[in-house]
Amino acid sequence: MAQIRFKSLEQAGNRVFPEVVAPSNKISDYFGVNAFGLERMKETLSPDVYKKVNYYIDKGKKIDTETADAVAAAVKTWAMTKGITHYTHWFQPLTGATAEKHDTFFDGSEKIEKFKGSALVQQEPDASSFPSGGIRSTFEARGYTAWDPSSPIFIWGNTLCIPTVFISYTGEALDNKTPLLKALELVDKAATAVCKYFDRDVSKVNASLGCEQEYFVIDKALYYARPDLVMGGRTVFGHNPARGQQLDDHYFGSIAPRIYNFMRDFEIECHKLGIPVSTRHNEVAPGQFEVAPLFEELNVAADHNQLMMDTMQKVAERHSLRVLFHEKPFAGLNGTGKHNNWSLITNTGVNLFQPSSSARENLQFLVFFVNTIKAVYEYSDLLRASVASAGNDYRLGANEAPPAIMSVFIGSQLSTVLDELDHSGNIKIKKGDNMYMKFGIEKIPEIILDNTDRNRTSPFAFTGNKFEFRAVGGEANVAAPMTVLNLIVAEQLKQFKKDVDARIAKGSEKRLAIISVLKDYVKSSKKIRFEGDNYSEAWIKEAEKRGLSNITNTPRSLKSYLDKKNKDVFVKNGILNERELEARNETMLENYIMKIQIESRVMGDLALNHIVPTSVSYQNKLIENANGLKGIGIDSAAVIKTITEISKHIEGIKVGVNEMIDERRRINKIEDTYDRAIEYCDNVKEKYFERIRYHVDKLELYVDNDDWPLVKYRELLFIR
Ligand code: ADP
Ligand code: MG
Repeated sequence: MAQIRFKSLEQAGNRVFPEVVAPSNKISDYFGVNAFGLERMKETLSPDVYKKVNYYIDKGKKIDTETADAVAAAVKTWAMTKGITHYTHWFQPLTGATAEKHDTFFDGSEKIEKFKGSALVQQEPDASSFPSGGIRSTFEARGYTAWDPSSPIFIWGNTLCIPTVFISYTGEALDNKTPLLKALELVDKAATAVCKYFDRDVSKVNASLGCEQEYFVIDKALYYARPDLVMGGRTVFGHNPARGQQLDDHYFGSIAPRIYNFMRDFEIECHKLGIPVSTRHNEVAPGQFEVAPLFEELNVAADHNQLMMDTMQKVAERHSLRVLFHEKPFAGLNGTGKHNNWSLITNTGVNLFQPSSSARENLQFLVFFVNTIKAVYEYSDLLRASVASAGNDYRLGANEAPPAIMSVFIGSQLSTVLDELDHSGNIKIKKGDNMYMKFGIEKIPEIILDNTDRNRTSPFAFTGNKFEFRAVGGEANVAAPMTVLNLIVAEQLKQFKKDVDARIAKGSEKRLAIISVLKDYVKSSKKIRFEGDNYSEAWIKEAEKRGLSNITNTPRSLKSYLDKKNKDVFVKNGILNERELEARNETMLENYIMKIQIESRVMGDLALNHIVPTSVSYQNKLIENANGLKGIGIDSAAVIKTITEISKHIEGIKVGVNEMIDERRRINKIEDTYDRAIEYCDNVKEKYFERIRYHVDKLELYVDNDDWPLVKYRELLFIR
């Protein structure tokens, strides 16, 4: 039975790396050659058409037929010179992955290559098999995809891929992109309106995003030798290796040659696609790494993250490797997250989260800074729900980065500024006073960017000129958390504008009105600020005292989407309507149930069909040995003790798995999706996973290494 393990180890140990050759020594020579973005449009379209496309993108309007035809013609010409024969609308259904349906340019009836504007702009994929939470089955059988011109078209393999939204015929969003685009438009409007207090020239505010993507890499043969990895993306069993991450020597250490070679290869592919991948390094755990692109306009960055993950997996295949994005592929080792670095930048080039030396600009900085903190405070459960997934449950709050309790870290300098503002009481401003000084605002240091003041344990940290949302899972489509973040900040900014305008209407001077509202907000959102160690027991207690939620599992967290306040913020801002929210919730719960179900099945199969038989035959060997010893009059107590231990664990597995199967049978009959998800969480996952694993991992220590059927952690993790 251990055959497959040793065969795969042999394969993994004898790999020859493919040679990686960059098209040129200069990245700029090939950056974006496989993308058709604004730059290429400018080169290939007439100035008139180009101007129109730009206008549509800027205004988020639907493109007219004539313009679409012109773009389609240019895209087709470009693609055909690159040997492309097919095109597809590329979209992001609620499964979290991306989807494609390929069509050829070749028109069979006219025997020519054709690509009309209408095919660029709209398609009707057979959508019936995508999850919709019941929207389509009850209301409309089909949906359509529609071009999102703000995200560059790109080439993968021999296919032209067109980023699109995915919508049902009754107009409901069936994907992750649609609500994101709406939230971005909303935050643009809300932020622009607030910017006008300070600068009349600001006419647009773009949200920016840079994702730091963590991942594990393992050999492909070893991956296929672990059914748990293949089925569920994580190992359900495996004893900790003698050398795990205790030594901390992997972090920023030199990268193993085989991995380095793979990284170079996928970086080249990413650069060709116009994804500005820029940093790479080892992570804390053995076999774990990180890649980060330069930040981009949020919608593009979100698409690029999906595309980058795809690209990495495809390139890994060439290197006989497999990338794991799952949030917790290995117990006892660092989990996998995706830090979302987020900021708001005006069309005049000002990063609204960049403190500066000018007091006036700093007031503007404070406005956006404080409103973001307030938004997180007001909608912390919603933000938490936006990162909820079966995989992320193994990471959030599981004694590692970051916790399930939402809080904001801002560093000591800015804490001082906010505290002073909070305690400044009813300061009266007289003519000629330096108002900024009176409120302590002039003290905001020019550059906090280089802050040594880093807190790696915070789920939402201010890092100098941006916020970093760290609770996002490694596998996640960032569109969902970014929809929520931008939505709640927009809502908060709208409220802020109302509050300030009300004070101005009562005769308050503008800046004083702004400061007085900020003071209120600082006071009322103080509970969400936390500068200490987020992993500590003390914080869990403290947070509870403060009344902050600590929702540690997905079904209970997802429920927050349907709380009145949270539903309202989506509905009244037109991001998702009630039905869409409910349908989404249903889809995510179903997804959760499926994942736990699969894990539970894999666990049962592996335990009963692989671990127990192997352990029994090893036990038989020991029994023979004990009898033999007895026959020649030697004390066999030690062997008998081992036999007893093994028996105990085998029994533990059998009882555990059988009970778990009975529970699944009972739970599967439960009609209500939420109740079923809760039951899967509490009475399958929580009750049995650790318990069964404990026995299996113990057996790994007893059973002869030659017989053990599963590739061990130490074998999976140390690629050289
Ligand atoms: P670290 O968080 O380790 O300090 P970096 O400062 O290099 O790492 O930034 C991490 C990510 O944040 C990168 O993708 C980077 O492009 C992005 N980033 C930097 N500045 C901004 C910004 N103003 N808005 C959004 N993302 C940003
Ligand atoms: Mg970071």
